This record gives sequence, C-alpha cells and structure tokens, in this order.
Amino acid sequence: MSIRKIIHVDMDAFYASVEQRDDPQLRGKPVVVAWRGNRSVVCAASYEARRFGVHSAMAAVRAERLCPEAIFVPPDFSRYRAASQMVREIFQQHTDLIEPLSLDEAYLDVTENKSGLPTATRVAKTIREQIREELRLTASAGVAPNKFLAKIASDWRKPDGLFVIQPQDVDTFLPPLPVGRIPGVGKVTEARLKQLGIQTVGDLQLLELATECVSMNLPEASITARSCRTGRRSPSRPRTHSSATCP
Ligand SMILES: [Mg+2]
Repeated sequence: MSIRKIIHVDMDAFYASVEQRDDPQLRGKPVVVAWRGNRSVVCAASYEARRFGVHSAMAAVRAERLCPEAIFVPPDFSRYRAASQMVREIFQQHTDLIEPLSLDEAYLDVTENKSGLPTATRVAKTIREQIREELRLTASAGVAPNKFLAKIASDWRKPDGLFVIQPQDVDTFLPPLPVGRIPGVGKVTEARLKQLGIQTVGDLQLLELATECVSMNLPEASITARSCRTGRRSPSRPRTHSSATCP
C-alpha cells in the first residue's frame, strides 16, 4: 500500500478573522466573537485578544475581565458558513477527498491530487496562497502521512504557518513530542499523565510496550515499566513485535 498524503487545514481565528476582514475598524484590535451576557461563551478570539489570555469556549464575562478593551462582536454564522464554503471550493480544486471537522478545519487526502502539483507540500502551499489571495484570510496547514500527525503539524507553526512531517521523519518526530500536543489531550489529561511520569509520546510508547510485555509475561516488563515511570528510555533493544511500535 502506498503512503498516504494528508493535509490538515485549520483557519486562523476563523470567525474573528472574518470579522476583521469585513470591518477594517477591527483590524489589529482585540476582537472577541461572542454574545454579551452572563451565560455566553467566546466563539472566537483574534490573536490580539489571545495575548490577554482570551480563548474560545471561555465565559464571555471572563474574557471581558481579562481584556476590557476588547471589541465584542455578536456571531454571524451565515457569513462564516459562506466563507467556509469558499474555502471548501478551493479544496475541491485539489481533491475530492475532503473530511470537514468544523466550519474552519478539514482533512484533505491528496495522495493523488487534481491540480497536478508534484508534492503534497506544494498543494498545501498553493491552498494557503489561494485562501490568502482569494478570500483575504489566513490558514495554517500540516502535511503528514496520516490524519493524526497532519493535525499536530498544522498546529506547529500556527498562525499562518505550514509544517511538513515526512514519512521518514515520523519515528524521530514522535517520541519527544509532549503528550499535550496530542489532539484531544487537554490540560486535565496532560496533568494526570504527568503524575504517572508520562510526559512525551515516547513515554506512552514505552508504556504500551510494557503493557504488552506484562500481558505476554516477558521479563522486560518490569524494566520497561520502571523506565516509563522515570521517563527514561529503556536500553535500546530490538523490537521484535511489530505491534510494539505506535501508532
Ligand atoms: Mg481554527
């Protein structure tokens, strides 16, 4: 089976960027997209607002306290949907295999692309340029051999960045990666894993190996488990079980 080429595209501060694009008065200013009110939450925050610690899903009243000079804009989803549709049309010029995650994020499988560009990296570059020039918005993109890594990659140089993980670099990229970078691992899980001595993906890989050794009753179990706790690699030894590598 050939190696897949996946791009994860993530629009930067999407709703806030659409507001800043459409109203020049908002450019360069801390913009918070949210309804006002005690029970309201932030839908999006411009990067200027994020500098004050404001982020999406935060209570709007808290955002107001953190950044009193923020300009609050009520969300207008019809405009965000229209912008999202135009982003989609750009994607469709390059591939039919599109998996949207939300209005501002999607995975594209460009193992074979429609535009005839030689590499996935070139496709990602072109898409970012098109979004900038045609829609006057910015997007970050990650290119990798699978969705999991592409999503990590798009976050790597955010905002307005591109990061590529080549298939041959996966084995060196993953082990030192902090677990907090794994999509879906939030602050709580990260703290809990840290308590167990698990700080990196490499530690998780060792844990998986240890679990496997325990289940197979192999003597390596205790030493591997110990190095998991101390966060140190076990002495290098050949990994004979293909399932022992992750993911
Ligand atoms: Mg986004």
